[in-house]
Amino acid sequence: MELNAPPGAAAGGAAARPLEATVRRVDFGGVALSGDDGARLEATVRGRLMGERKSLGNTVVVGDRVTLEWERGRAVIASVAPRRNAFSRRASGERAEEQVVASNLDQLVIVASVRRPEFRHGLVDRLLAQARASRLPALLALNKTDLGDEAEVEGLAADYAPAGVRTLALCALTGRGVESLRAACRRHRSLFVGHSGVGKSTLLDRLAPGHELLAAEVNERTGKGRHTTTAALLLTPEPGLELIDTPGVRAFSLWGIDRDSLERHYAEFEPFLGACRFGDCRHDREPGCALRAAVERGDVPARRWESFLRLRDELGGGPGARPARTSARD
Ligand code: GDP
Ligand code: ZN
Repeated sequence: MELNAPPGAAAGGAAARPLEATVRRVDFGGVALSGDDGARLEATVRGRLMGERKSLGNTVVVGDRVTLEWERGRAVIASVAPRRNAFSRRASGERAEEQVVASNLDQLVIVASVRRPEFRHGLVDRLLAQARASRLPALLALNKTDLGDEAEVEGLAADYAPAGVRTLALCALTGRGVESLRAACRRHRSLFVGHSGVGKSTLLDRLAPGHELLAAEVNERTGKGRHTTTAALLLTPEPGLELIDTPGVRAFSLWGIDRDSLERHYAEFEPFLGACRFGDCRHDREPGCALRAAVERGDVPARRWESFLRLRDELGGGPGARPARTSARD
């Protein structure tokens, strides 16, 4: 990997050596950064930042603001500024470990498709819960509207509106809604997450034509992506537009949310929590359940309540317990 500052970063004859930068991508070999003037550079990470396991882990993630020191013309990341926020998931594998996907975000853009693949409430609701845990607003980018009818699109939008989630009806093939999505992302650093196959790459390619997307970064010789499944990539196609691409997910496991706290991560439940007859109401079949009454009145979408019960069932009793994963039923 080329670790020198790119010659293009030269300013006024002397090589520009920024002392601060933003992380665009984290690779095994180094970290890709962009300076405040948009210049791209690569850096290594100071060993003492890495901790015991000498792995980068969550130390440096996309979106991080870092300070640089220069040694023999090479940039070294000396420190990471405190994060304003971060979006995490439970890392895959047996051990309960956090995986920070990206930091310093303004919104989560959940990309889903009406069909092919089928809309998955379970996955979308997990992502929404995780976004709320990070106090991140979320947007539903509903793609492939050409494969469904308008009533379906409106039905899905109605399921999420009470949670404060705006739905944008999109078709990446015809360009429907793409300008609204661009407008919604402008000046909001946006993390794009979605099930594989929903058309996330096609949409991002419309927002950032010609920019390297994760899907494009496949080694021509091996046919394998150069990234691990944890990798994210910050795209800055135009001033004021910062889009973070992530690999398509098949499963998403929650981090920092357990059975007992899950209800607080369904935004539209909030007015009804604490109003049930029994203090330890599980909002299932108990008499006097304020949440179920709200569902019956139509104030809380039935689909959200059902997904809540199912997700809670799947969540273990506490930290380290079996994670809730998406499954075919979602
Ligand atoms: P990703 O895995 O989410 O990045 O999905 P891709 O962008 O690779 O798209 C998966 C497939 O869906 C491709 O064959 C696309 O051409 C197709 N596709 C993307 N957007 C749309 C859309 O709005 N409508 C239809 N019918 N197909 C789409
Ligand atoms: Zn209840």
